[in-house]
Amino acid sequence: MIPVRDDLRALDGYHSAQVEVDVRLNTNESPFPPPDGFRDALASELSRVDWNRYPDRSAHALRADIADLHGVDPTQVFVANGSNEVLQTVLLAYAGPGRTVATFEPTYQMHAQIARVTGASVVEGERGADFTLDPAEVERVLAGAAPDVVFLTSPNNPTGLVEPRERVEQLLASAPGLVVVDEAYAQFSDWTALDLVDDSRPLVVTRTFSKTWSMAGARLGYLVGPTWLVSELDKVVLPYHLDVVKQLAGRIALRFSTEMNERVATLVSERDRISDALSALPIDVFDSGANFILFRPRDVDGRTVWQQLVDRSVLVRDCSSWPRLDNCLRVTVGTPDENTRFLSALTAIVNDDT
Ligand SMILES: *Cc1c(COP(=O)(O)O)cnc(C)c1O
Repeated sequence: MIPVRDDLRALDGYHSAQVEVDVRLNTNESPFPPPDGFRDALASELSRVDWNRYPDRSAHALRADIADLHGVDPTQVFVANGSNEVLQTVLLAYAGPGRTVATFEPTYQMHAQIARVTGASVVEGERGADFTLDPAEVERVLAGAAPDVVFLTSPNNPTGLVEPRERVEQLLASAPGLVVVDEAYAQFSDWTALDLVDDSRPLVVTRTFSKTWSMAGARLGYLVGPTWLVSELDKVVLPYHLDVVKQLAGRIALRFSTEMNERVATLVSERDRISDALSALPIDVFDSGANFILFRPRDVDGRTVWQQLVDRSVLVRDCSSWPRLDNCLRVTVGTPDENTRFLSALTAIVNDDT
């Protein structure tokens, strides 16, 4: 064996248990397949693909369609293989060795992870016990670390908490560098930072096709940001990084926004049903603006509850040993039937009727 880079030696990879179960509610995907019309349109377009040619390197048409969706200019859109690759490209361009990235924990683990892989150092700000972010803590982190990049996730993962608009505005006013707002779940919440994007502000908003658009299998994400920043990302990303099939799939998906909005509405009403049902049990439930709910069983060990759910063929995310998330579990909103199965299994477990 030859030694890996010194700074990578201490890093762990990304872990999410992949267990065979009937009800999978652990990775925040959409429980619904894309509409039939999507499959048919994609199949017919695929029969005309020029397989011997490289794809459109800058994914012009896809960028233009995304720009239309948000009422921005195509030069303000950057597209990559999942929003994780979008984030990696941003961090390769604006973080890297000698630079600092700030996060407010607990939050999406990949922000700190990708930052470290690029060689940046990471400063972790702390949220309160209810997972809200105190403006004074924001000031402390910005003043102390002067981060080159600072992340907010709204709605946050794994807590579900929607960050108030004032917090994004505070970052824009005080941060010395780039502000990244990760909006992987924005469609399930009641506001977006997209209208703050402007060529005069160092702000990017990232989105994904993995959650709302029922396309986690395709790996497609994007950001909306200043034109000058998008040009820098185009220099960093590999040539032809976005294959021809994915470019087509993304464009076709956008034709089905009515169907997607109906799915979002169903998931939001199911989220509220799950939340109410959990609140009636001896469980602390955190408010969510996303397609998942974080909860903490009061009198039982979280890891034990997770295992007993698996024994009943229901898989949720076990966050019980994560820093700051003592005893917490996270459930993704599934189909109405899946949610009912989850709720009845959990009710039996916490009431201890085995
Ligand atoms: C799921 C998720 C992503 C998604 O990433 P993709 O690479 O687009 O699948 C990004 N950010 C957050 C906060 C997420 O939870």
